[in-house]
Amino acid sequence: MDGTQRFPKIPHRTRSERLPRIVVVGAGFSGHTAAKGLLRRLRGRARITVIDQRDHFLYLPLLPEVAVGTLEPRRIAVSLAESLRGADILLGTVDHVDIDERSVTWVDPEGGRGQVQYDRLVLAAGSAHKLLPIPGVAEYAHGFRSLPEAIYLRDHLVRQVELASASTDPAEQRARLTFVTVGAGYTGTEVAAQGAALTSLLVKSRPALHDIPIRWLLLDLAPRVLPELDRALSRTAARVLRQRGVEIHTEQSIAEALPGKVRLTTGEEVTTRTLIWCVGVRPDPLVADLGLPTDKGRLIVGPDLGVPGHPEIIACGDAAAVPDHTRGGAPTAMTAQHATRQGRLAARNIAASLGYGRRRTYRHHDLGFVVELGGADAAANPLGVPISGLTATIIARSYHLLSMPGNRVRVAMDWLLDATTGRQTTQFGIVRGKHVPLEANRLAPQIENTHPEIRPRKVPQRIEIAQRRQAARNARTPDLDAGPGDGVPRSRFPRGRRAV
Ligand SMILES: Cc1cc2nc3c(=O)[nH]c(=O)nc-3n(C[C@H](O)[C@H](O)[C@H](O)COP(=O)(O)OP(=O)(O)OC[C@H]3O[C@@H](n4cnc5c(N)ncnc54)[C@H](O)[C@@H]3O)c2cc1C
Repeated sequence: MDGTQRFPKIPHRTRSERLPRIVVVGAGFSGHTAAKGLLRRLRGRARITVIDQRDHFLYLPLLPEVAVGTLEPRRIAVSLAESLRGADILLGTVDHVDIDERSVTWVDPEGGRGQVQYDRLVLAAGSAHKLLPIPGVAEYAHGFRSLPEAIYLRDHLVRQVELASASTDPAEQRARLTFVTVGAGYTGTEVAAQGAALTSLLVKSRPALHDIPIRWLLLDLAPRVLPELDRALSRTAARVLRQRGVEIHTEQSIAEALPGKVRLTTGEEVTTRTLIWCVGVRPDPLVADLGLPTDKGRLIVGPDLGVPGHPEIIACGDAAAVPDHTRGGAPTAMTAQHATRQGRLAARNIAASLGYGRRRTYRHHDLGFVVELGGADAAANPLGVPISGLTATIIARSYHLLSMPGNRVRVAMDWLLDATTGRQTTQFGIVRGKHVPLEANRLAPQIENTHPEIRPRKVPQRIEIAQRRQAARNARTPDLDAGPGDGVPRSRFPRGRRAV
């Protein structure tokens, strides 16, 4: 037995018969690649429906560049309607998969509900923030996985420097110029490295702050930065971080987050208005909802990505525990590289299950990793060869451009403009802290009821409960960035969106 299983064959149909329906849940790295592959292999021979809570594919590895203003937010968002022509694109959050009935139920951003039957299901819902039971983190920290969070962080960083410059209280100035990032994986490392470069740039044009130290702290319980990556990448990243003045606190984390300060596990208290949470991820909550066997929250699948006992379901990407043959069968790492390749295999194996082509098992050797540190600094190890500096930056950016399913010229133009004309350092404050709570529950979509007369027919109880909790959190969560001197009365901000 190789762990693969036979798909139930759907017989060839005449044109008048119903085409088999393939539903893809999630259009990130794995889902988007799977849908693209299905369109290529099965166009006209199956109906492909893609459901995602966003109308775009989000290129996550470039999110830190949005947070520091190198790229405009829309550059890393590629329209699903344009990139997946031929598929039915449904905008909504899937909140239930009925495995017996083979149906998927979703709720759209205005509260409308829909259901679709499937013959084949690709589950590619990715992952969400991993919260640890540390007091105060849910209230005071902000995560970094979505565009609103990146836009919030960009505005927040600029605003802290602006408010520090306007303040006459040195203690407040120091607090506003202290930035704490928890988690030194690729996300936290890139955010701290690029964030430190941005704040130094912002301070240059504000003489009032020239004598105030800027502190960036990067904390991780691991003994080195980028603990999950090659040591050479880790060394390069640590060197660049130190050059930019980032304090690397290994084997440390925060013990508690309090209003206006954090307490580290060493007992040190750090006054700050910024706590960025980059501590790993967990599979999307939808996976747990399926009631199928999981490994550390990821759906267990065979080497052909099929769910044991349910050959009509394929799972891939962060949501699936795909056995990695290069690591003795341990689940593949949660990376874009694996997700993309698994998406490609998902398309091949689904097509095979419908009688087109042959099924394969997942085999992929790591091709290396790139870490963008901002400016001309990057670390890369293509095919295991460690490279740093400008060469690594060129490799990293070329890799990103090749990997993006669209917007390449726009991204390249933003990089060119940033290098030649400098950074735009204004903030609009459109996304405030309470609009991007760390504990946001994917199963409780932020529904905007623009048609109060339309009410969903049947809203599952857990969505209502989660929305009530969310509304309560929104109401009580203090904005770390809306402190004294913010200049904007709190009452002018909505207390979270209205739930249906
Ligand atoms: C800031 C950041 C930087 C990263 N940088 C790198 C990097 O440099 N290199 C690297 O290899 N990896 C990187 N990663 C990890 C990489 O992005 C992920 O491993 C990859 O995105 C996983 O792909 P996926 O298809 O499983 O999930 P995703 O790409 O996250 O896609 C999941 C999709 O499912 C949708 N979805 C989720 N739940 C639902 C639902 N209930 N209903 C409808 N739709 C739903 C989401 O909207 C999303 O579009 C980074 C991750 C982050 C957050």
